[in-house]
Amino acid sequence: MISIRDVRKSFKAKLVVDGIDLDVGQGGIVSILGPSGSGKSTFLRCLNRLETPDAGSIDMGGDRYDLPRLDRRRLQSLRMRIGMVFQNYNLFRHRTAIENILEGLLVVKRLKRAEAQDIAEGYLALMGLSDQAAQYPSSLSGGQQQRVAIARTLAMQPELILFDEPTSALDPEHTGEVLEAIRKAAGQGIPMIIVTHEMGFAREISSHVLFIDGGKVIEQGDPKTLFGAPEQQRTRDFLKNYL
Ligand code: ATP
Ligand code: MG
Repeated sequence: MISIRDVRKSFKAKLVVDGIDLDVGQGGIVSILGPSGSGKSTFLRCLNRLETPDAGSIDMGGDRYDLPRLDRRRLQSLRMRIGMVFQNYNLFRHRTAIENILEGLLVVKRLKRAEAQDIAEGYLALMGLSDQAAQYPSSLSGGQQQRVAIARTLAMQPELILFDEPTSALDPEHTGEVLEAIRKAAGQGIPMIIVTHEMGFAREISSHVLFIDGGKVIEQGDPKTLFGAPEQQRTRDFLKNYL
């Protein structure tokens, strides 16, 4: 079980994440919905310490990280255990698809090259990208780049994967292939937290859904209830935009 408690973050005087709690069970997939500026990205970025929150903890199987106060060793440990997939893929531009995946396996995990190569090829194949292994990001479509990014994250075998609007930079014709790739990633059993505006996808894939606004959880529940019969007026108003 992964237990996230009381994550808080302000920028100057502006409170952006206002005490978010969340539990993610084994194989759990949590989707986070909310309007622009509601603090979704900041919340995710606090979890793997791309931002330093003012408060908050994450307990991973009994090992608790006090997020505002991590020394170098604990920060490195947290980042090994939590992977992230970004809206804009964040691939190394000067590395091929397979080199993008190898980097972390060689440099962070310090695997032998042959073993790293096997793992990287395996995840490229899982993402349907075996033929693109030697391509540079600039010669791949957005959908292919995002699939490389997902393969790279899976290859590190994190205990939790964060996705921040993984399809929102894509043309509609490439959205489907990336959603399919995320379904495959989910099949690996690693818990995931996904910020998305793809409501149909969130409804189908999630075990739990949070609606946040103003940095707070306004409503949460199973997808059937949250999408089908939301209790809060704010949730209803938000979902109306997606009908
Ligand atoms: P979107 O759906 O547009 O991606 P979001 O829910 O991810 O929105 P955040 O990016 O978390 O929202 O931003 C929440 C608020 O925090 C916004 O008002 C944003 O301007 C502010 N903010 C985010 N990052 C910073 C920063 N580094 N410095 C100052 N303000 C920030
Ligand atoms: Mg965002």
